Amino acid sequence: MAQLLLKNANTDIDHVELKGFSRSVAELEWLLLVLALLYYVAPDLYVETNLAIIGGMLAYAIFVISFRYLNFYRKESRWKIAIETWVMVAFITWMLWFTGKIESPLLNLYLLVIITSGLTLGKLMTLLELILITCCYLYLGHEQYSNMIFSMMHFSDMMAKFSPFLLVAYLTTMLSADLFYARESLKTLAQTDEMTGLFNRRAFNHLLELEISKAARYKKHFSLLLIDADNLKTTNDQYGHESGDLLIRKIADTVETNLRTSDTISRVGGDEFIVLMPETDLAAAIDTAMRIKRSINEASLILNQDRIAISVSMGISCYPVHGMDRTELLQNADHALYQSKNKGRNTISAAEVRPVNAEEQDTDPSPPPPQVPS
Ligand code: GH3
Ligand code: MG
Repeated sequence: MAQLLLKNANTDIDHVELKGFSRSVAELEWLLLVLALLYYVAPDLYVETNLAIIGGMLAYAIFVISFRYLNFYRKESRWKIAIETWVMVAFITWMLWFTGKIESPLLNLYLLVIITSGLTLGKLMTLLELILITCCYLYLGHEQYSNMIFSMMHFSDMMAKFSPFLLVAYLTTMLSADLFYARESLKTLAQTDEMTGLFNRRAFNHLLELEISKAARYKKHFSLLLIDADNLKTTNDQYGHESGDLLIRKIADTVETNLRTSDTISRVGGDEFIVLMPETDLAAAIDTAMRIKRSINEASLILNQDRIAISVSMGISCYPVHGMDRTELLQNADHALYQSKNKGRNTISAAEVRPVNAEEQDTDPSPPPPQVPS
């Protein structure tokens, strides 16, 4: 479940990546046009029909402008990039047809397509592009090789021309796969707390922002449960830092076993955790907190043959009654936690209900808040 949420949290990061890829593809498209134009204006290079070359370049430029800049198809996706590479293949094949077919120096432009595909679309799609390019190549050369299409000489010639393409496809897909795995590991590292394997504060902030926008959009509520270990310093001082670490892990495990799969726990400080509970009102959040408190009090740690009792203090805040944004919700949960500490620890407190403004009062007559049982 945590992995699933991590994946959800990463979707907009992927979207940013896709936008980056898309920008690079746009640059490659223009590069392709510039190279074709340079070939056309260069002196002494073979051009069969001027009109076909100019028409091809114009048609391709119109495609690039409309597909990319006129927002006919607004959302970035890998399919969009795939379509662009297929059109690139069509354009290059058209240019080759009128500039000497397989003997044209423009043949190497296919490399641009292979690089684009290898870096952005993965192995399978690059293989398909290679097959497509091979078909185009065979079609372009069918007149020249018509009488020896299955001959050894034709095969050797094709291999000689195609081996750089294969090599570039192989290298770019390998490079892209390595970069992909490195990026995935970095993402996981950037969002995970090393000691407990839970989400860290950065990931929590991201999840909270997502939950706030979801709750605002669908008029739902959710709760935050801030949990802080009681007297961890004493355990550290008496039994050593590693024993303190054990206690932190024990608390993390115990809290996690008391949550629903839709809830997430993050470690946001040394001995501080936050549980994010979607679609949970204050009464349900208090129930969960009570369950966690009982489990933690029942759990214990044996350190140097001493049985160490464990307890935590908790503060609850709920969207929207205790705040509508991240800062307000966290401040209120923190304030409630502070009250729990002041009440002698091993206690649960809910945030104070914030004053409701006139507009909200008209639409949302809130019932009196549930009380935490002492
Ligand atoms: P309180 O009941 O008021 O929460 O007291 P506390 O002793 O738990 O102290 P507090 O929450 O204010 O501070 C947390 C302490 O936990 C500070 C630091 O000494 C210790 N600590 C922070 N991170 C770690 C960690 O990763 N491992 C261990 N063993 N101790 C940590
Ligand atoms: Mg503490």
